[in-house]
Amino acid sequence: MLRCLALDNFLKGLAKENMRCPYCGNLDDRVMESRMLANGESIRRRRECNSCGYRFTSYENIEEKPFMVVKRDGRRQPFDRAKLEKGIERALEKRPVSTAMIENILTEIEDQAVMRGKAEREITTADLGELVLEKLHGVDKVAYVRFASVYRHFENMDEFITEIHKLGVLNE
Ligand SMILES: [Zn+2]
Repeated sequence: MLRCLALDNFLKGLAKENMRCPYCGNLDDRVMESRMLANGESIRRRRECNSCGYRFTSYENIEEKPFMVVKRDGRRQPFDRAKLEKGIERALEKRPVSTAMIENILTEIEDQAVMRGKAEREITTADLGELVLEKLHGVDKVAYVRFASVYRHFENMDEFITEIHKLGVLNE
């Protein structure tokens, strides 16, 4: 992927506020990496707590409002790339897909999620799940079914089996 180091360093310089460490609560952290997301208005920063060494990610836009995910019950929480990564890695476990490929999938989903939720600065877990499904569908059908069974909550076994037949996974 093309990266602009000058832009990254510029963005790094803009990180004026320290974030509270989600692990130990300390307010002293350093920014390891900043990246402008595809919408050109949001910045993702990799941070490391200077107190306990915990690494976390923050999302900011020019209004410094974090990009949020709206859960099924209506609660909002900050978009968490690590959590998304875990879900995708679980779906792709023991599948012939490289770590670099997973990283690419993750970045594409992240960019699309931020673009789709541009106006409201948020995306629903359902929309996010659909983005992941679209992506996995093109990459690995088994991973797609694994992810779908968790996120789409198939109504019944028939629906699940119909989906699998549609994909031809059983013939692989
Ligand atoms: Zn800490």
